[in-house]
Amino acid sequence: MNNDEIIRAGLGTKLVWAGEREQRVNRATQVPVVLSVAYGYDDMEEWYDVAIGRKPGHIYGRNTNPTVAAFEDKVRILEGAEAATSFSTGMAAISNILYTFLRPGDRVVSIKDTYGGTNKIFTEFLPNMNINVTLCNTGDHDAIEKEIEKGCKILYLETPTNPTVKITDIERMAKAGKAVGAIVVVDNTFATPVNQNPLALGADLVLHSATKFLGGHADSLGGVVCGSRELVEQIFHYREINGATLAPWDAYLLLRGMKTLKLRVLQQAKSAMEIARFLQKQELVEAVYYPGLETHVHHDIAKKQMRGFGGMLSFALKGGMDSVSILLPRLKYANCAANLGAVETTFGPARTTSHVECTAEERKAMGIPDGLVRISVGIEDVEDLLADLEQAFANLVKHIKRN
Ligand SMILES: *Cc1c(COP(=O)(O)O)cnc(C)c1O
Repeated sequence: MNNDEIIRAGLGTKLVWAGEREQRVNRATQVPVVLSVAYGYDDMEEWYDVAIGRKPGHIYGRNTNPTVAAFEDKVRILEGAEAATSFSTGMAAISNILYTFLRPGDRVVSIKDTYGGTNKIFTEFLPNMNINVTLCNTGDHDAIEKEIEKGCKILYLETPTNPTVKITDIERMAKAGKAVGAIVVVDNTFATPVNQNPLALGADLVLHSATKFLGGHADSLGGVVCGSRELVEQIFHYREINGATLAPWDAYLLLRGMKTLKLRVLQQAKSAMEIARFLQKQELVEAVYYPGLETHVHHDIAKKQMRGFGGMLSFALKGGMDSVSILLPRLKYANCAANLGAVETTFGPARTTSHVECTAEERKAMGIPDGLVRISVGIEDVEDLLADLEQAFANLVKHIKRN
């Protein structure tokens, strides 16, 4: 099997085989976890050639590592990219991309609903460097286009978003971004390469918090960006100097997790749809947000640019946090925790997860009701998840009637 063959293979095959063979040693069928910090050379000329990048090879662990390289290659092939580089976390990926390209006086256009950490970079750190950031209402495509037309260095998108799963039309926005010479960046964490490939829709760079669906087991942190060699090399250079390097153990865990990504994501999406329909029927549920529902504001865009609707959904519970505090502890098959994308179903109120930094008023202004709960659907049997929700809702109804 060579690289051309793996590029033509199906998604599930790519997930299992891409990037694996090149890094094997001593006939081991699995990629080794190379913990060595440095690589020894007897030939001083060869050492020099590798050090200046004239020859392939590794020198020092902050720069490159064979286990990490296998992970980068797998994601690169999945996103159909020329190059990829990785980071210690998803936030490291995001900040390294931004700090590689932005200079004082530059302008960024983005949306209000980006991941909490990303939003903090936009509102707290970039303005300190005299970088202007304009955050548009998520999903208001005309407004985003108008802001792009004024000119920007980076157009930064995330779709679907946290926690109300809003969708942005990547193809349309990328076209507008390209017209003004912007670098178009898309956070593809929620969709995963199983459901969406932003580069094929016109984006320049696609990034992931690998901590979430790619790894899938909530036991390792990592981030990755894919795009043209020209752009990725610049980001890699910034990262090898500032040192936000992905650790070999984490690279291995992410690599192993990714082999089952397609199976997990397909199951999660199927269950998410059933759970969304179940929630729609609950009297105590005010609204359900899932792009797979015909009632979702951006269902048509989602259908156009995504192959599936993913495992993330949210719902607003009547009675706000009081109701949430009764409902969630009753669930048997759910972690109440801040992460997402794991094999276990995970519930979290927006107040303590995605929007913990915001005041109640700010959340309200952003269209996030007090009783909003995010669900990251796991791979358990959906019958068990539905029965679990059923009993938790029955308990909540009983509690409300009693009071
Ligand atoms: C979690 C997350 C991030 C940040 O990733 P970390 O690995 O936690 O740093 C970025 N974007 C999205 C959409 C996320 O869910």
